[in-house]
Amino acid sequence: MTHAQLTAPQDLTDEVMSVFTDTHGTAPTRVARAAGRVNLIGEHVDYLGGTCLPITIPYATWVAATLREDDVVRLTSAGHEPWTGRRGDLVSGGVEGWARYVLAALNESTHDGGVDLHVTSTVPVGAGLSSSAALICAVLRAVDDRSDHDLVAPAIRAETDGVGVPSGGMDQTVSLLATVGQALRLNFSTGRHVQVPWLPGTAGLQVLVVDTGVQHANDDGAFARVRSRSEEAMAAKDPTALPSDLAAAHRHVTSEIARVDEFVDAVVSGDWRGVGAVMTASHGSLRDDLGVSCPELDVVVETALASGALGARMTGGGFGGCAIALVPRELTETLIAAVADAFAERGWNTPRFLIGDAEGPATRLL
Ligand code: ADP
Ligand code: MG
Repeated sequence: MTHAQLTAPQDLTDEVMSVFTDTHGTAPTRVARAAGRVNLIGEHVDYLGGTCLPITIPYATWVAATLREDDVVRLTSAGHEPWTGRRGDLVSGGVEGWARYVLAALNESTHDGGVDLHVTSTVPVGAGLSSSAALICAVLRAVDDRSDHDLVAPAIRAETDGVGVPSGGMDQTVSLLATVGQALRLNFSTGRHVQVPWLPGTAGLQVLVVDTGVQHANDDGAFARVRSRSEEAMAAKDPTALPSDLAAAHRHVTSEIARVDEFVDAVVSGDWRGVGAVMTASHGSLRDDLGVSCPELDVVVETALASGALGARMTGGGFGGCAIALVPRELTETLIAAVADAFAERGWNTPRFLIGDAEGPATRLL
């Protein structure tokens, strides 16, 4: 049997401070932390005015910083190339890589000067758990003194306008406004959000996040194609006359929007089997009607269900990334072993398993 374990969430507060101190010779004056996230239900509907239901998870990005009076920016991040430059470099062009995210966040902040800044993180990068929003929100939380609510629009702008990555705003909103034990229901027609109690632990259940390790390919055009197909389908005057691919996209969007309501109703009435069934139905719709799943995600979902999960689905844009399963706690270990075996049998790399307990918002720690 393949040996696979949960990756326990670590607290890196001490580490981010001591590495900053070693690097810059003095202790940081500010430290902040922002978590990664998963979306429980409501996938590929944000750009069509639907709703989604994300939570933050106990894996986060820590930022230690000291504000500077001049405009020099010195950035380091564990596992990434250091970067040194000036505040205006993003606007004047030529900044590549992860420094873009930090500069974009700085440019949206109330701080005008430079910064010395160190980053460390337990959020898998590029796995669809929104390490990008965690970084932006942790930087903003560290250097800006406005409230979390007032940082939502700047955080979204940092990623869309500053970095240039299209983002519906779910990631930054939940990273800044999440509450422990609650999911955040975001309505993309009204721009409003409400909290929904999310305490599967009270029923002996937990969310397990499985990172397939397959890189999601938001930038190779697949995501854009799916999006334009769905937009075209939803704009049709007569959905019954659509060609089959557009009809399928239409089916996904309308059924997924309805599933968010069903999911919330089931959560509120404590019908956890119902919650699981809606998750699994969402996966089927994303796989069959929208065509955004992949073999690895399907194997996670099938194996999780066969190992006693109440429900399972891919989460995020698809084509790789993560799946989530709603699992009775006592079956978590068996399920992890079964999924790891299923991957090994196919010659795939062992996936990474993470705890999906609902976490809190981005927080200034120092
Ligand atoms: P995701 O948000 O799903 O993890 P993205 O492609 O949106 O994937 O964002 C990943 C990018 O964000 C990385 O390539 C890097 O530029 C930046 N990033 C995220 N976390 C960190 C980190 N801890 N240190 C440096 N850069 C990071
Ligand atoms: Mg991202």
